[in-house]
Amino acid sequence: MINHSLKQLADMLASKEISSVELTQEYLNRIAQLNPEINAYITVNPELSLAQAQAADQRIANGDAGPLTGIPIAQKDIFCAKGWRTTCGSRMLENFIAPYDAGIIERFNAAGAVNLGKTNMDEFAMGSSNETSYFGKVQNPWDRSRVPGGSSGGSAAAVAARLCAAATGTDTGGSIRQPASLCGLSGLKPTYGLASRYGMIAFASSLDQAGPMAHSAEDMALMMNVMTGFDERDSTSLQREKEDYTRELGKSLAGIRIGLPKEYFAEGLDAGVAKVIEAAVDEYRKLGAEIVEVTLPNTMLSIPVYYVLAPAEASSNLSRYDGVRFGHRAAEYDDLMDMYCKSRAEGFGEEVKRRILIGTYVLSAGYYDAYYLKAQQIRRLIAEDFAKAFEQCDLILGPTAPSTAFKSGEKADDPVSMYLQDIYTIAVNLAGLPGMSIPAGFAPAADGVELPVGLQIIGNYFDEARMLNAGHAYQQVTDWHTRMPEGIAS
Ligand code: GLN
Repeated sequence: MINHSLKQLADMLASKEISSVELTQEYLNRIAQLNPEINAYITVNPELSLAQAQAADQRIANGDAGPLTGIPIAQKDIFCAKGWRTTCGSRMLENFIAPYDAGIIERFNAAGAVNLGKTNMDEFAMGSSNETSYFGKVQNPWDRSRVPGGSSGGSAAAVAARLCAAATGTDTGGSIRQPASLCGLSGLKPTYGLASRYGMIAFASSLDQAGPMAHSAEDMALMMNVMTGFDERDSTSLQREKEDYTRELGKSLAGIRIGLPKEYFAEGLDAGVAKVIEAAVDEYRKLGAEIVEVTLPNTMLSIPVYYVLAPAEASSNLSRYDGVRFGHRAAEYDDLMDMYCKSRAEGFGEEVKRRILIGTYVLSAGYYDAYYLKAQQIRRLIAEDFAKAFEQCDLILGPTAPSTAFKSGEKADDPVSMYLQDIYTIAVNLAGLPGMSIPAGFAPAADGVELPVGLQIIGNYFDEARMLNAGHAYQQVTDWHTRMPEGIAS
């Protein structure tokens, strides 16, 4: 059962082979057994989850079920969920109980899905290894001495270890795709503006986007049907007609033009990863795709541009945590200023402070033009690179991350090498495009351990249905997405 697709689970629920309460309890048992070590969840609340499961069973009995009704989904701890502790991986929000539901949570509730728990993440979604979480590191289920990636590392580990049927993540520079790649699962960052940011704790608002993390492209299509849609409470939400993301599944890929950006296969890419990606490209050739070379010349500028813009937005977004209305407040202080300073000094971790410092600096009067404005201009060039590439191809393929999962602690003291984990994902956020990662095989680490490799598929704006079909077609002729780490089946 733990390897079933969302569709299979829905069928079992519909035929009453299993109830949502039983299914939810099964996952809660697995969490109780495996989570103390893997640490994928920050908060589980069996009472709340089982109440939702019971309501779902009632809906199913009434013949009022949708595709996700009764299915246990793990929620990244960045989404406010009413009555649930919502920490964003930070000491600042250690005891924060959300008083309302995020737009995404509302949608899952309306669909009748069960909130199985809140998953671990890098603090305020800043990181690529889940090591900046105040609630401790997460183990990669494929090799417990390695990181799961980040910032949605808890969601990725939960899906990989079968501690949920599927999960949500958020992606500002790669936080859905990179952990999906490192943990051997499928993850999609939608076109900017498709998923509501209301109640999703803000990191860098012009880049943040929520998306699904699941076992297959087909599962993600079902999740997308629930997760997307206009929300007037998010000023960047797009008003578009509702789409069915399963509509292209099963279509032939014959004649589809796939672009390989030469910059994504250059220096810095692990040789084992490159081999896996080349084999995946061959598979697409066999499926009838036409392969063309494209160029994204400003790829190397995407990291420096991101590390000006994202911290700038973060420094502004995080100014609300002042210890006054909510969040951590220092126990002792002399005056108001001292309370602000101590509360923020205690509540935020090192990486968050680093970003606030950088952000404040690049936005300050004397440096705004030299850094922030310049970065905005280059952001436009990066988007134009993609526009040109999409004149020659329908989809872009390449690696998701430059390497497989690295050891815990390996990059913890080297922020720049950590930042380079997102070299192939960040430009997609800067351009607002959709990007996804699917498992494409395994590559050996230096110590010989075989670790999952993710293939990235980038599409043009609003082309998610075609991307999902490209992933689905590949998953019909390969079985990487069904592989399970050892030691998690009970
Ligand atoms: N790893 C990147 C960062 O640390 C991206 C994080 C994200 O997508 N939330 O900012």
